[in-house]
Amino acid sequence: MDDHACYQLLREIRWADGVQCPHCNHLETKKAGFHNTHSNRQRYECCNCGKRFDDLTDTVFAGSKKPLKTWLVCLYLMGLNLSNLQIAKELEMAEKTAQEMTTVLRQGIVKKSLISSLMAWLRPMKPT
Ligand SMILES: [Zn+2]
Repeated sequence: MDDHACYQLLREIRWADGVQCPHCNHLETKKAGFHNTHSNRQRYECCNCGKRFDDLTDTVFAGSKKPLKTWLVCLYLMGLNLSNLQIAKELEMAEKTAQEMTTVLRQGIVKKSLISSLMAWLRPMKPT
């Protein structure tokens, strides 16, 4: 799964009922190009309040230096009930980093429904 596919998956799940403004919950939005540094991250502008947001606004993935893919793989491994140490090995990172990621994900800083949808979506995939 490349970065483009990760964003596509996130969009399909997050905006399953249509793109919704995270500021005022309005459903009429228009696309506003892509993020400057993350070319796969779609930006939107709300037709009601005029505020801009993107695919990651209001999720823990926003502001993270780690690519979305790393978060999705981490979620997937959590779904397999791997320990932080095992996840760290799979993602080739320090155990402390893996622990920070799983803690954040477990705390549900991302909307809980988004996490469970992503996990449900990722579960049937076979590890490569
Ligand atoms: Zn709005």
